[in-house]
Amino acid sequence: MKLTPQQEDRGAGVLLGQAIGDALGVPYEFSTPPIGEPEMLGGGLGNYAPGEWSDDTQMAACIARVSGWGADLTSTTALDEIAAGFEEWYAAGPGDVGNQTRAVLTAARGLTGSPSERLHAASRAHASSTSHSAGNGALMRTGIVGLTRIDDPGATSAAARSVAELTHPDPLAVDSCVLWSEAVRIAVLEGRFDLGQGLHLLEADRQEQWAGWIEAAAGANPSRFSPNGFTVAALQCAWAATTSTDDGSGSPLHVQRALSAAIQAGNDTDTVAAIAGALLGARYGASGLPARWRRRVHGWPGLRSSDLVGVAVTTARGCVDNDAWPAIPHMEYRDAGAWTPMAVPHPYDDGVLLGTWRDFRRAEELGVDAVVSLCRVGIRDVPAPGIAPEDHITVWLVDSDDPTANAYLDFVLDDTADAIEALRAEGERVLVHCAAAEQRTPSVAVRYSARRGVNREDAVQAIATMPSTRGSGLLWEVASSA
Ligand SMILES: [Mg+2]
Repeated sequence: MKLTPQQEDRGAGVLLGQAIGDALGVPYEFSTPPIGEPEMLGGGLGNYAPGEWSDDTQMAACIARVSGWGADLTSTTALDEIAAGFEEWYAAGPGDVGNQTRAVLTAARGLTGSPSERLHAASRAHASSTSHSAGNGALMRTGIVGLTRIDDPGATSAAARSVAELTHPDPLAVDSCVLWSEAVRIAVLEGRFDLGQGLHLLEADRQEQWAGWIEAAAGANPSRFSPNGFTVAALQCAWAATTSTDDGSGSPLHVQRALSAAIQAGNDTDTVAAIAGALLGARYGASGLPARWRRRVHGWPGLRSSDLVGVAVTTARGCVDNDAWPAIPHMEYRDAGAWTPMAVPHPYDDGVLLGTWRDFRRAEELGVDAVVSLCRVGIRDVPAPGIAPEDHITVWLVDSDDPTANAYLDFVLDDTADAIEALRAEGERVLVHCAAAEQRTPSVAVRYSARRGVNREDAVQAIATMPSTRGSGLLWEVASSA
């Protein structure tokens, strides 16, 4: 299915939102919740680095590695690849693994058959041996499944069911995955929250019970659903955190309130925030997620935000084109403007260089410590040579006069200006670039001027004199307006 720019942005936010929630929740897992806004401090049960995601997103990455090729996740081939990914991940000795997932993956080691046959046998045996087999360990990784068959609720629920059953065949665990994956699918396609719309995809005799659980969580204080190791409580806690903090304005600042609420509810904080984060990312997109978090998140198997964006987009598109963004190794811009060297100091901060694609290609020569890319870059372009991974920030900003192309233009311009200010406060020299520095770079430069205490009119005048500045168009007008 051909996605609109906004749908693609929202699809790009699913894994990234999950990873951000996960990394924010890690320090507080089964420990004291934060009083104010959570921070990516690392630590937690897996002794993670600051910004590192945990088992929730690690297991989601195993699914994404398969879904990113457009695979049908109900096929034996795909399930074998996902199961093999889970086994490989477990064999590598991850820092933290949920109890049920650990029991299933340990038991599977002694079994014969294909990877999915081993997991199915082990998970069924585990489920029949205990009355507590509906843990949140499948729900925590299901967000990406919502992108695999973006135009088909039936196929989405079948995929959610198949992937859940590898470790969590309990009907409630499976139902929670079907509901959340469908909610993610709807959020990406339609830009709205609707958890109840997936009820018809469940067995008829469980629909009423689930409707009651969803209704009880809507708008409720999320701490009512703590402890939340049970998949129903985890879903309710994530839904309560999402709905109780929604002011109806449509502002992506909702993401920050909702993730704080999810984590402040306590208990399995990283998992609940990962679940909520996938849905919030689906609703507000990669462009609605703050750069201060995007730049920090990373984790097994060696991925960072641009990788999560890439695999989410190819999953939502249902195919990979290695010659185009996001799968292309090195991006190329061919027009003359992109190949004109510029790298002029920002008129109000000579520690910020404003440049073109050519300048990005010579970032090392320019001697900068950080890069803010406002245009699309290839997977091997990040991080730029000589730049630490957390100091190369990629921004979802479309150079278009179509008012629907950028969902939150004001938010993105201000958030990017904040990110540049933070890099400068860390003592870094920053290259801010797009392709030809006509529109995106000057627009961000105007917004950044306000961080230097410069009056908007003076900033507009100064930046309009840069030779590359177009000085007209939607981005420039929004950036220049008070
Ligand atoms: Mg975790």
